[in-house]
Amino acid sequence: MKYINKYKSPNYNSRKNSRIKLIIIHYTALKNTLDAVSYLCNKEKKVSSHYLISQNGTVYNLVKDKFRAWHAGQAFWQDNIDINSISIGIELDYNPRGKNNKFSLKMIYSLKKLIINLQKNYKINKNNILAHSDIAPFRKKDPGKNFPWHSLSSSNLVMSFKNLTKNEIKIIEKWFNNYNFKSKKHRIIFALSLIGYDTRKVNKNDILYNKLIRAYRIRYLKGQDKIKNKSIYNTLIKHLFNFLLTNS
Ligand SMILES: [Zn+2]
Repeated sequence: MKYINKYKSPNYNSRKNSRIKLIIIHYTALKNTLDAVSYLCNKEKKVSSHYLISQNGTVYNLVKDKFRAWHAGQAFWQDNIDINSISIGIELDYNPRGKNNKFSLKMIYSLKKLIINLQKNYKINKNNILAHSDIAPFRKKDPGKNFPWHSLSSSNLVMSFKNLTKNEIKIIEKWFNNYNFKSKKHRIIFALSLIGYDTRKVNKNDILYNKLIRAYRIRYLKGQDKIKNKSIYNTLIKHLFNFLLTNS
């Protein structure tokens, strides 16, 4: 696929031999692509991303893959806290409050092609295509509740969960019991932490717990605003089972 290489961001440093394992999807929350390019290439802003995709599907390569772009900020995934060193950052020209408040078909088409290329080049696991809100659920909401994850999963770029048999549910429940996790909330936190989320402070802090659940809900339980622990729990055990089968 063709990239626009005309604009380069000075905001990067060395990965120091870290392997690329994750792809992080963002939205810019800016007015348009032009603004996004100048923002992400402005030395004073101290932020950048490897790629920026416009509403018409043009892909800008602002930082070479081999460098560490500055897009994740304070973040966490599977015990990693230096997410920038192990990830590729993709910004989408989208603003929930702007004229660019749609994820256009052309944009998503280019995003999928880019993800396919990156998955091929760096052998990135399907479980490792993440939202900024997955790795920073207490601070960040992008790419937001309207991002079409279903389109990525129907193209087989991210994992789609197969339903569990009664026996498989029993296996997971038995496993929880072995760990002595009695309450649904404890099981939910345990499952989220195995998948990769930052659960270090959520046990005793309801505000943080609710933010984490919100981040999970907007990605995996779409369109369900008031959600009970039960449906989160049911989705999570399905997620966890599929995750454990495919996370090699
Ligand atoms: Zn972001």
